[in-house]
Amino acid sequence: MSDFSPTRYIELLQAIQTGGYLLTGFDGAEPAVGTLLLRHDVDMSLEDAIAMAELEHAHGVQATYLLMTRSVFYNLASPAGLSAISRLRELGHWVGHHALHPHVEPTIDPGFDRVMAWHNPQPDYMADAVPGWANAMEPRFTGDFEWTYRSDSNQTWRRGDPLAELAAARFPWLQLLIHPVLWMGSTTGMPTTIDSFLDRDRAARLEHLHEDNLGL
Ligand SMILES: [Zn+2]
Repeated sequence: MSDFSPTRYIELLQAIQTGGYLLTGFDGAEPAVGTLLLRHDVDMSLEDAIAMAELEHAHGVQATYLLMTRSVFYNLASPAGLSAISRLRELGHWVGHHALHPHVEPTIDPGFDRVMAWHNPQPDYMADAVPGWANAMEPRFTGDFEWTYRSDSNQTWRRGDPLAELAAARFPWLQLLIHPVLWMGSTTGMPTTIDSFLDRDRAARLEHLHEDNLGL
């Protein structure tokens, strides 16, 4: 059975390397054979995104982090948000936009790479071209899905856990969507995973309160 933890994620990174895949960004062209587009939608926690980004950097892996400007959970324009963008870039990752339909906003400073994906998209616009952007769900980046796309959505691998197939290089190329919040709490099963996120979020908010000199 698949489990979800930083340790298991490191095994996944090692499988990518065993399979000889070349990590690439969403640069506009159809992915070449042997490439892997590792994408992270950051829905809830910048802290978990940074923790995952550090793991990847330590293992020589580059990923594309898509960040929200309209998240109810974090503020990308806050000092913590801007320093998260800087840290992701320092670690060598690509940073794009996880957009809330219909708003695509390149205005955040220091700016996004022009790659985006919609948060919780409806099927009728999910894969549409977005002028000026590479939409990660356009057919050129998802192929026929069967052997070219895997997602860990709600800790359910719809077409199977890709680890063994990555190590065996069975994907011609692959877009792999991973949500950091589902892995960084070392919990498997959505109820405990959400609880674990809320515990980490409480700790992070307490830290922000200390930084704001609220006399705690
Ligand atoms: Zn999302």
